[in-house]
Amino acid sequence: MTDNSACARALAGRLFIGGEWRDASDGARLTVEDPGTGEALTDVAAGTPEDGVAAIGAAAAAAADWAATPPRDRAEILRRTWELLMAQRAEIARLIAQESGKALTPDAEGEVDYGAEFLRWFAEEACRGIGSFATAPTGQYRIIKQLQPVGVSVLVTPWNFPLAMATRKIGPALAAGCTVVLKPASATPLTSFALAELFRQAGLPAGVLNVVTAHSTGDVVGAMLADSRVRKLSFTGSTEVGRGLLQGAAQNVLRTSMELGGNAPFVVAADADMATALDSAMVAKLRNGGQACTAANRFIVHSSRVDEFCAGFAERLQAVTVGYALDQDTQLGSMISADAVDGILELVTDATSRGAQIVVGGERIDRAGYFMQPTLLRDVPRDARCLTEEIFGPVAPVTTFDTFDEAIELANDTEFGLVSFIQTADLATGLEFADRIESGMVGINRGVVSDPAAPFGGWKQSGLGREGGHEGLLEYLETKYVAASW
Ligand code: NAD
Repeated sequence: MTDNSACARALAGRLFIGGEWRDASDGARLTVEDPGTGEALTDVAAGTPEDGVAAIGAAAAAAADWAATPPRDRAEILRRTWELLMAQRAEIARLIAQESGKALTPDAEGEVDYGAEFLRWFAEEACRGIGSFATAPTGQYRIIKQLQPVGVSVLVTPWNFPLAMATRKIGPALAAGCTVVLKPASATPLTSFALAELFRQAGLPAGVLNVVTAHSTGDVVGAMLADSRVRKLSFTGSTEVGRGLLQGAAQNVLRTSMELGGNAPFVVAADADMATALDSAMVAKLRNGGQACTAANRFIVHSSRVDEFCAGFAERLQAVTVGYALDQDTQLGSMISADAVDGILELVTDATSRGAQIVVGGERIDRAGYFMQPTLLRDVPRDARCLTEEIFGPVAPVTTFDTFDEAIELANDTEFGLVSFIQTADLATGLEFADRIESGMVGINRGVVSDPAAPFGGWKQSGLGREGGHEGLLEYLETKYVAASW
């Protein structure tokens, strides 16, 4: 790693404001841990509310020029950053693995591919400005619809995908002509700094992207949202924090995009191809160690297939190599923190106390760092907490159904509505499921749906708005209607 590499810049751990790297206004630092060892990895500047407001100032100062920059030029910078990211794929993947604990292959490397693709996709979208020109029904004037950048946007991201959750917001915001302040999760700020350095190297003008980490997150984000120069908040994280931020955003009536928690059902129909169902179940449950908003949280299996499903799933889960993120044979890395493991174990204990059976796993792994065994629970009763709360770990609870209506009712029995999965040999069954399920995304015979080219987002308390696809760009554009006569 050369000294001017993005990763070296990240490890220096300084705020990125107005195109410059600087320390927090009060000099405070916060520790970043390696969750695979439980030891400190490094420390980074802990921004203050004043730093947050300074970053908003830098974004506001850059806003007019960036909005006036030709879309093609904005696109070229996004495209160059994509190239730089892909050229440093290995180093960035290591950084992600170290600060988040996820397995280098396939999770961290997969995240670089996925996260970088948002920049390439939105480089392409940047040039597809849309609007319309029509005659009013009275015939007396013209209705012109044009789209303009929303303006200064505050982006708040979680720790589970430190790169992809940032690029999924920065890509469309910059493509649309908005300037931004990114507030990454305190547990995983390093990848954001590396990304900022790559944008700088790609020629992004000062102030267009700013990165502020924080220890007192509520205070720093609160100060930014209270600043009247801010026009938009885009948040990815838990539903609980999202609810509070929606209230904060109401004060200045900010535009909001909210990507919140999930509780994905994974239905295995009586006619499912079992090999496909099991492959899909493994990726839906174990991608990112189950620490994904899209992770399958409830396996709802037809009672005629449940023995076969549990036997196959147990065999696959037992074969998983759990280990340190950077070890080549590791398939499942660590959880993010000791608290996370405690929370997962609480859900397992709650389920077993209500009658669930542990088929595989069920315990923390006794080694340095925060590790959880891949776990399969069956006969999980409907009132078990793991069926209503996000597990956010490698624990798979299995329940059964007998009729299709019952499967739909069970699947919809949640306040969340992010993604739902079904395994069936009959496309008509899959499409009927898609029609009747209350979620923003549906996977048919698949265990993963995320794609930068597709609109990602939730119904119900899983969120507001979409990221990715063409819809992702629209989140950063305001509609202006012009009535014109001449
Ligand atoms: P979190 O809500 O604890 O934190 C998310 C971000 O909000 C972090 O940057 C955090 O520092 C910040 N934050 C926390 N408290 C805040 C406050 N009071 N004011 C302002 N900001 C605050 O979530 P997390 O633990 O980092 O991530 C896991 C959650 O994120 C899960 O619920 C998961 O489902 C969700 N998630 C959703 C999506 C999606 O696209 N829907 C994607 C990834 C993660």
